[in-house]
Amino acid sequence: MTEKTFPLSHGALKAAAADFSTPFYLYDERAIRENARRINDAFSVFPGYINHFAVKAMPNPAMLRILREEGFGADCSSLPELLLAEMSGIDGEAIMFTSNDTPSAEYRKARELGAVINLDDFTHIEFLEKTAGLPEILSIRYNPGPLKLGNTIIGNPVEAKYGFTREQTLEGFALLKKRGVKRFALHTMVASNELKTSYHIETGIFLFELAVEIRQKTGISVEFVNLGGGVGIPYRTEDTAVDYRELAAGLKEAFDDIMVPAGLGKTGIHTEWGRAVTGPYGWLVTRAIHRKEIYRKYICVDASMADLMRPAIYGAYHHITVSGKEASPLTEIYDVAGSLCENFDKFAVQRPLPAIEADEESGDLLIVHDAGAHGRAMGFNYNGKLRCAEVLLRADGALALIRRRETTEDLFATLRF
Ligand SMILES: *Cc1c(COP(=O)(O)O)cnc(C)c1O
Repeated sequence: MTEKTFPLSHGALKAAAADFSTPFYLYDERAIRENARRINDAFSVFPGYINHFAVKAMPNPAMLRILREEGFGADCSSLPELLLAEMSGIDGEAIMFTSNDTPSAEYRKARELGAVINLDDFTHIEFLEKTAGLPEILSIRYNPGPLKLGNTIIGNPVEAKYGFTREQTLEGFALLKKRGVKRFALHTMVASNELKTSYHIETGIFLFELAVEIRQKTGISVEFVNLGGGVGIPYRTEDTAVDYRELAAGLKEAFDDIMVPAGLGKTGIHTEWGRAVTGPYGWLVTRAIHRKEIYRKYICVDASMADLMRPAIYGAYHHITVSGKEASPLTEIYDVAGSLCENFDKFAVQRPLPAIEADEESGDLLIVHDAGAHGRAMGFNYNGKLRCAEVLLRADGALALIRRRETTEDLFATLRF
């Protein structure tokens, strides 16, 4: 069971809605820092542990700076994400550049920043050498194919476009060594929103076993193993959060069993968690502006799937509460809809909720929970929708606008006519 909380009182939220106007995202700095510390603390069993926060989950430098202060690096996959890391003061090997189908300009920028480049394909060895030169350290992204079953969001590794096969991984390391690369890392990413600790421990086990095989077949000792991201969060109240200590302890046990006897006991452990870091500590705040009764009852809000598309595209569950009515009985069944001309623009379908007042000025404020990762970041402009603002609840209790809402001028800025 997971209790759904929100850091502002009803009065404080009403004031914030008046100041910033709805919809907006709210992020809780204190809770995110505490969570980052819990992660680092659990993984302190691995000396040199670092989480490269997946920038795509929340691409805002205000947040990346906070995470840098907590000792996190960045996981980037595009040129703009590299620039976001750079402007947040994250550079060098604190950046993992895990891209795919990569243009040469992006490899050059990653080289310039001293990031650890994580190669997605065998052919990129030559491509990188030709276009940006081979750096001293390189990582290979391994796709386990039939050896590992993926989960539903990420899909089956055999069908996944990413990474090297097992044979290519072994050949790749041998080739990198031949071409003068001095330091090596091994990476995989096989999960998305996975709550089972055992799943993540199994990922560690197959990477550790591969690291041992790499050592036997090529003589290379990888400097670190990157377990990727994909640690889930309890979107539903009946879900249970991943216990970081239990996860780190399980990984440590596997490491001691597999890596230590093979002489690889000095290998570092890295991760690339995004969702688990900020997801539960971000909320989309939106006002009920219309109420509609046809074959079903609808609450129509001022946000849309252009602000948060997970429910629409994955059928993902996001818990919704109504500010000031947290204790009210759930007497109504509503579909909570946005304004996009797409029928799946719904934040909730047939959801039990308290009776909701709809009004453009004074309607109830709905809080969409667990929107702190892959939320605003996945927003888009279809239907001419303008993406909403991001507000940070600072550790000192002040509210700071860290991204303003878009305007029509922003939307039209690229037009030439
Ligand atoms: C998306 C992604 C992550 C982060 O995933 P989360 O589910 O947010 O933890 C990490 N690494 C890679 C390569 C990714 O594509």
